Amino acid sequence: MITPDEAQARILALGVPVAVETVPLLEATARWAAHDVTARRTQPARDLSAMDGYAIRYGDLPGPWRVVGESAAGMPFGGHVGTGEAARIFTGAAVPDGADTIIIQEEVAREVDALTLTGEGPPHQGAHIRRAGSDFASDNRLVTVGDHLNPARLALAAMGGHGHLDVHRRLRVAILSTGDELVLPGADTGNDRLPNSNAPMLAAMLGPLPVELVDLGIVPDDRAALATAFARAHDCDILVTSGGASVGDHDLVRPVLIDLGASLDFWKVAMRPGKPLMAGTLGTTIVLGLPGNPVSAFVTATLFLLPLVRHLSGARDPLPRRIPASCNAPLPAVGPRTDFVRARWVGSALAPLPSTDSGVLSSLAQADALIVRPAGSEATPTGQPVEAILLG
Ligand code: AMP
Ligand code: MG
Repeated sequence: MITPDEAQARILALGVPVAVETVPLLEATARWAAHDVTARRTQPARDLSAMDGYAIRYGDLPGPWRVVGESAAGMPFGGHVGTGEAARIFTGAAVPDGADTIIIQEEVAREVDALTLTGEGPPHQGAHIRRAGSDFASDNRLVTVGDHLNPARLALAAMGGHGHLDVHRRLRVAILSTGDELVLPGADTGNDRLPNSNAPMLAAMLGPLPVELVDLGIVPDDRAALATAFARAHDCDILVTSGGASVGDHDLVRPVLIDLGASLDFWKVAMRPGKPLMAGTLGTTIVLGLPGNPVSAFVTATLFLLPLVRHLSGARDPLPRRIPASCNAPLPAVGPRTDFVRARWVGSALAPLPSTDSGVLSSLAQADALIVRPAGSEATPTGQPVEAILLG
């Protein structure tokens, strides 16, 4: 058996980030930056007011002043603010020449052009001014290669003057479910059939990632049918299968892939749930064979499929983040396999869910996190720190 960490490393080693394309800003959402993004402009480009009020010279306090002009966002006052003078100013407007401080409008009274101080006035010279370049200067690095392009980074790139970004192209990922017992969700199952829950689950897990899904449907436990279906994934970056991955008579995924010329490793990964996992390549396609048990499929997809997708998409940190948390129940000693314990938040602590059966979806559906308990961990009392992977 290999450890989950080792399996992760071997799976990521199967591929490198895919080709780079330049796309409009919004299409880059939720992808990873293929290159550093540097600012094409300085922000703010000049000193701007942070408030609505009046631009004055600090030395003129406590006033009074004569209002000589107005500066609005995008419509600067072209004149000069001299001694005893003020310019009406609005948030985001350029601070006029001559002025060095903003008085907020709540602290003055205005009668036509005459302005008098009614409040405490600005606390210091330069008050309420956003300095040119205080956010970033031209040529500053705004986004680093491998950064996730979340909404804030997209906004920063936009502010930096970019309408397009370089990202890795979307992956094509084929999802195949195999098992004679499977029917489409919603179809009649009688007593002996079972809805295919893995395919919609995997598709939903991949939904937020930059992926184009190829649905290879349900394939019976039949060599010829599997071979035909696998061939349809020839132009995909990843083929993910669920079911048929053990070594039973009906577990045909591996023999058929090998017949087709795949180079495959089959591992028993020392984890619970999970265990049987296949990984390798068929032509230029990376193949991941997940177990059929729904919870095992979920946990192995979380640990191996999603990181592979992130890695091929250019992510610098493709592995799931493990966060420290506290567990509100005692935990038993762990045997030779790393335990991924379904748990949900109760207040600020994680509560392990009762079922550990790898077929029980109802407890997975309640889980906010997987507590990671390394192989060989000792039993722990309530309130001990644990590491957890948060689920989306
Ligand atoms: P297998 O890996 O084919 O031995 O399947 C293990 C268990 O998972 C069996 O109980 C299957 O019925 C179940 N299973 C396999 N594929 C799926 C699927 N796509 N959706 C839900 N359950 C499945
Ligand atoms: Mg099966």
